[in-house]
Amino acid sequence: MAEYLQKLIIITAPSGAGKTSVTKYLLDKIPQLSFSVSATTRKPRSNELNGVDYYFITEEAFHQKIQEDDFIEWEMVYEGKYYGTFKSELQRIWDENKTPMLDIDVKGAIHVHEQFNSNCLTLFIEPPSVEELKKRLQSRGTESLESLQTRLNKAVYELSFKEHFNKIIINDKLDDACKDAESAVRKFLGL
Ligand code: 5GP
Repeated sequence: MAEYLQKLIIITAPSGAGKTSVTKYLLDKIPQLSFSVSATTRKPRSNELNGVDYYFITEEAFHQKIQEDDFIEWEMVYEGKYYGTFKSELQRIWDENKTPMLDIDVKGAIHVHEQFNSNCLTLFIEPPSVEELKKRLQSRGTESLESLQTRLNKAVYELSFKEHFNKIIINDKLDDACKDAESAVRKFLGL
């Protein structure tokens, strides 16, 4: 397995825990960070841009990239939907003398952590409760009843892995969660 000496930061959580808000806050506050754009085979949502939110690629292209060993990690996060982090994406960010920030699922986070060990900071954003998580997902309005249930089942499963991560941040109040995450990142990067 390749050994990486550069640093990276991973933010992970069950879907709807507030991971995206915390990620945006950190990217805003800490200019040394750069968002690692993942590849996915899911369709773009109406507000999403190719190359900014994700690299939207076909399943065929995704499998080709797996064959070519282009991913640092990849997962079928939801039934039939693939997500992965390109090695070249991390390199692009390191070449800019910045630290990649990955917003990836729990399994992917564990895989990357294994490859980077102490060069990697893993933040796990925990929702205050599963009930609250359900409310947040419903109010987001992007999920069908079926995909809401799929995401909730997955969330309960993912919560059972929280002890694997460097820091658990409970997102009861978003402001506090953001500040906790910021201080952990600053400490890790020596800022
Ligand atoms: P969404 O479809 O809502 O954008 O993302 C679904 C899930 O996929 C989120 O938990 C997100 O963090 C995760 N995800 C996004 N990119 C990657 C990736 O490159 N690898 C893995 N393992 N998960 C990812």
